[in-house]
Amino acid sequence: MADAFTYEALPQRVVFGRGTLARVGEEVTRLGRRRALVLSTPQQGADAHRLALLLGPLAVGVFPQAAMHTPVDVTERALHDVERADADCIVALGGGSTTGLGKAIALRTGLDQVVVPTTYAGSEATPIIGQTEGGQKTTLRDRAVLPEVIIYDAELTLALPPRLSFASGLNAIAHAVEALYAADANPVTSTLAEQGIAALAAALPRIAADPTDIEARSDALLGAWACGTCLGTVGMALHHKLCHALGGGFDLPHAEMHAIILPHALAYNRAAAPRAMTRLAHALGSPDPAARLFQLARDGRLPAGLRALGLAEAALDRAADLAMASPYPNPAPIERARIRQLLQAAWEGREPVPADGD
Ligand code: NAD
Repeated sequence: MADAFTYEALPQRVVFGRGTLARVGEEVTRLGRRRALVLSTPQQGADAHRLALLLGPLAVGVFPQAAMHTPVDVTERALHDVERADADCIVALGGGSTTGLGKAIALRTGLDQVVVPTTYAGSEATPIIGQTEGGQKTTLRDRAVLPEVIIYDAELTLALPPRLSFASGLNAIAHAVEALYAADANPVTSTLAEQGIAALAAALPRIAADPTDIEARSDALLGAWACGTCLGTVGMALHHKLCHALGGGFDLPHAEMHAIILPHALAYNRAAAPRAMTRLAHALGSPDPAARLFQLARDGRLPAGLRALGLAEAALDRAADLAMASPYPNPAPIERARIRQLLQAAWEGREPVPADGD
């Protein structure tokens, strides 16, 4: 018998393919907009300027200053440019950091967003925004920040270095893993989650072997969309709670931290979420999903432990306290001693072990 569920789809237009960057202007016009401000990080500024040239009179400026974790002072500077250029929409070209800036502007102005993702983080498919001010990160869910259009162009990801590809790919996989055991899981997101995990897990090793493999890049991007859609639609659990605690409390690099924590969070939930584990085993082609994801991060030459990200061992007690505060719904009960053990293993970079009695 099928389980009962409630499902709400998000309204969003997705254009997927190769060479689709050429369609940004068409999509801006389709929205009824004529004055786009193009956003990027400083590292992708040249690409943003090229896109502005491609857009011609539809582009009224470039703001190439997006930064990790959406600092509010950067948003304020960007808003100044929006006003000065009289922009009527945003075109964000880049990863989660640039998408985050576009969302922050949309939150304050209601401007439409066309997002052109160049990593696998998945933020473009969610109504979620995290912002930082005075060292504090706050996250909120609001339909106002959901981008109107996503344009996926696999060619833009060819330049994403393999290490960053693995880090953001594992960040995406984490969204789908938690969707499989979400308190509000439903048949649509569970199917998408399985598809997204399978696509990314198969594509990442091919990207490591040949970063210019356009078919692998395209498969990974499709996986990123599927995984991002899961994050946008259902609630997350222990893994995301731990990452929010560590990211907010200790300013660790986002994607690498996700890649480290994921196998441990999975091992924590293994006994309590048997159906999710069966689907994961199927998606990953391995009877031990936690071990498979741990190995995938090794294949991507990512740091094995939080220690390698610069976190002091003395911080683990506080990290456990932060993780215990207002915990997210989770299949296995959240117990401080087990969380502390999990953090120790993740800090040392040990392979995750099943919990007692598992
Ligand atoms: P990022 O956007 O910070 O990009 C990392 C670096 O890679 C940047 O310097 C960027 O310019 C560069 N880069 C991006 N694409 C490239 C490409 N194709 N070629 C060469 N260089 C490229 O990293 P990310 O992992 O995509 O995003 C992380 C951020 O996204 C975090 O702030 C995180 O909180 C946020 N995020 C938000 C959500 C959400 O739903 N709100 C979901 C996932 C991640």
